Amino acid sequence: MYVYNHMKMKKINIFWFKRDIRLIDNLPLFHATKNKIPTLLVYILEEELINDPHYSDIHWNFVKESIKDIDTTLGKKSVLFIKSDPINAIKKIREKFHINSVYSHQETGINLTFKRDIKFSNFCKIHSINWYQYERNHVKRGINNRKNWIKGWNKYVNEPLVNLDLNNLVILDPIIFKSDFQILSTKTLPNKNIQPGGTSNAVRYLESFLNGRIKNYSRNISKPEESRSSCSRLSPYLSWGNLSSRFVWQRTKETIKCKSLMFQINSFLSRLRWNAHFIQKFEMKPSIEFKSINRGYHLLNKKKDKRLVELWKKGETGYPLVDASILCLKETGYLNFRMRSLIVSFFTHHLWQSWQDASHFLARNFLDFEPGIHYSQLQMQSGETGINTIRIYNPTKNAIEKDKNSTFIKKWIPRLNSIPIPLIFEPWKMSLIEQKLFNCEIGKDYPHPIVQIADTRRHAIDQLWGLRKKSLVKEEKKKNS
Ligand SMILES: Cc1cc2nc3c(=O)[nH]c(=O)nc-3n(C[C@H](O)[C@H](O)[C@H](O)COP(=O)(O)OP(=O)(O)OC[C@H]3O[C@@H](n4cnc5c(N)ncnc54)[C@H](O)[C@@H]3O)c2cc1C
Repeated sequence: MYVYNHMKMKKINIFWFKRDIRLIDNLPLFHATKNKIPTLLVYILEEELINDPHYSDIHWNFVKESIKDIDTTLGKKSVLFIKSDPINAIKKIREKFHINSVYSHQETGINLTFKRDIKFSNFCKIHSINWYQYERNHVKRGINNRKNWIKGWNKYVNEPLVNLDLNNLVILDPIIFKSDFQILSTKTLPNKNIQPGGTSNAVRYLESFLNGRIKNYSRNISKPEESRSSCSRLSPYLSWGNLSSRFVWQRTKETIKCKSLMFQINSFLSRLRWNAHFIQKFEMKPSIEFKSINRGYHLLNKKKDKRLVELWKKGETGYPLVDASILCLKETGYLNFRMRSLIVSFFTHHLWQSWQDASHFLARNFLDFEPGIHYSQLQMQSGETGINTIRIYNPTKNAIEKDKNSTFIKKWIPRLNSIPIPLIFEPWKMSLIEQKLFNCEIGKDYPHPIVQIADTRRHAIDQLWGLRKKSLVKEEKKKNS
């Protein structure tokens, strides 16, 4: 029989990588390694999360690349990368070592990870294991108002970064556990369409942005094609924690001194603050994963139409900018802010479907899926907060204004390639002769519009503005502002 006797066992700390897969500016990692007790670095790929509808392989490939980057930086395989649930992982590790403490960041995640953390915390208490959790990007747990929050965030981003002394780290070799776990490979198939994970890549994106791409940041921010290179593209690196917000903030301030770029910088830096702001709001009101933050909108009675949902998911709505955005998202894991807003508005206003029915599909496809931003934005864009202006986007007007050369539409819907401007923005207006001439038969090569947006817009305005006048919506608005 195996007798657990921790007195004879070697003491270790565990650093549990969550959405903070980096070595730079990682406070819990610093604390886990500072007292020279050997530290086991672990990433646990959880079956429950693999099966959760928010996640897909693009996320786990990004995680693998991020871990590989850490191994490369440390010069050898250093992270124990396993498929398990956290409690079973700890149980197995305890059979070999005396766990002094577990260190990690606090996770402001979906309900599933929150419940998992409660279970894990209880397990740690029962087994006298200290679990130290640290704030992520100044997102605070247990506060009930955000009065001085911005002040604190501004202070946080200006505080010195946490530096690890990489040469003197005492890391436990993960190979010790080769008979206890199936250690996973970090190999991935290269996919040129998707941003690669890891801090080295993150820094490369940041540097190229600050040293050039930022010049057109504001001018192109809403354009579906141009924004792909003029926006920072840092979102997956921030969401998966390859970089801390503070690192990005400080590097931006150090790199750019040029006054002519001040507008772009301020615009970029305020978005960096929005990132933490929305995650903080979600931390304080995680129920928005399931229901609109404004209870007044729970009265909206949207009937699910499976056919419309499926056509939207397939990018077959008959509205070129909506379809191009969906197809692009599925292929690349990325869309700029305006196109994200547009596809959500189309789904919730023009198709009159509830944001809950779009949520998992979008999360699975956004490489940068960040629960706090995702759920807040879904509700904002569907007009269900009562706080923000209700915007019902017109996909044709947006195509004319934001994709004026139709580059984006043509790239993602090649069947429309030979249709000239402005017909390409409204292909259903082509005569039969034009359809022949441009080699695109509506209803065969490209779908008829699945709804008439002039009618659906009217309907959505009536419903949403009607509710906005109700006292419950108004009361909730005050509570949530
Ligand atoms: C329906 C919907 C869902 C979204 N889901 C996510 C998500 O899951 N994860 C995510 O990171 N962003 C999300 N966003 C916000 C935004 O679209 C992306 O952050 C942005 O497009 C990422 O591109 P970028 O890194 O080039 O941004 P940049 O414009 O270069 O901005 C820099 C950083 O600021 C933050 N940021 C930018 N815009 C916002 C915003 N509106 N709210 C909060 N933070 C912002 C991001 O971290 C971004 O990386 C969502 C927006 C909508 C409308």
